[in-house]
Amino acid sequence: MHMNDKDRCDEMKPFIYDLNLDDLQAWAKENGEPAFRASQIFDWLYVKRVNNFQEMTNLSKELRAKLEDQFQFVTLTEITKLESKDGTVKFLFGLHDDHAIETVIMKHNYGNSICVTTQVGCRIGCTFCASTLGGLKRNLTAGEIVAQVVQAQKILDQKGERVSSIVIMGSGEPFENYEATMKFLRIMIHEKGLNIGQRHITVSTSGIVPNIYKFANEDTQINLAISIHAPNDMLRSKLMPVNRRYPFEDVMEALRYYLAKTGRRITFEYALIGGVNDQPEHAQELADVLKDMLCHVNLIPVNHVPERKYVRTSRNDIFKFQKVLAESGVNVTIRREQGHDIAAACGQLRAKHMELR
Ligand code: SF4
Repeated sequence: MHMNDKDRCDEMKPFIYDLNLDDLQAWAKENGEPAFRASQIFDWLYVKRVNNFQEMTNLSKELRAKLEDQFQFVTLTEITKLESKDGTVKFLFGLHDDHAIETVIMKHNYGNSICVTTQVGCRIGCTFCASTLGGLKRNLTAGEIVAQVVQAQKILDQKGERVSSIVIMGSGEPFENYEATMKFLRIMIHEKGLNIGQRHITVSTSGIVPNIYKFANEDTQINLAISIHAPNDMLRSKLMPVNRRYPFEDVMEALRYYLAKTGRRITFEYALIGGVNDQPEHAQELADVLKDMLCHVNLIPVNHVPERKYVRTSRNDIFKFQKVLAESGVNVTIRREQGHDIAAACGQLRAKHMELR
């Protein structure tokens, strides 16, 4: 077989990381193998974290060959790696089809948090975001999302550290790639695998209403964050075109359902954009909407996106905004900026990479 033919064949094979333990068990059964083989494979993938099927030495040669024949590993090729003084490491990874995605390892005093990407690009169109500039190219498979965490964990393995939390806040709208995102999450929290604590995982959505309801009905303890960015419908539509599809009040209603169903606190992400949504009257309006909700507001001073004309909110205005919310009884923090010196705003590395090609 020519190299190119093999590559083409590999492209059509599913990724082994696309399979959860149930899928592996079904596959084992179909192939006349006992169910414990699935657990062994799962262990090789997520506990021992091997890079190929040949290393799975407690499986027979025939079984390894069968796996090799039917599946492939996700290869994330490191295109760029940027390390910040604060310990943040940002990767631009190349995928098998020449697309590129960003993954970030953030170092906190409580452990390492990984920010993963769920789509190549994004079609949501938030006006302050670089990820959406080229539109949506394609969804990632569950396995391609899994691979980002496994790769990060392998890097951390070298220092004897582990991934302690995951945020789904990289490029893309996870609720527009819902099934793959949920499958990824179930693989991450599985006790026989990486076993990441559910309360240490947060999915962030721009407000895809039908899937907020769906997520509320999932039996998980995974946290939900909403990119709200405005205190009312009109301003939100200006900043986030998705608000025309799913208006502010519909998002709030879905969140009230989520709260009633789960009793879990919601995080609201609010990107402060100088002179646009960062004035005390905006803070007051937001406080009026949120004051009776079990929630937390995370203020994010917006990173400068060269393609947009937004300016940064002054420190003084950030604190004023925070004070208005806090005085109304809303739980609020200002996000600690990470990787500011390495263009860590979502989508900026990839945007730069696309420009250079
Ligand atoms: S902020 Fe998130 S949802 Fe909005 S365009 Fe960027 S990646 Fe998409």
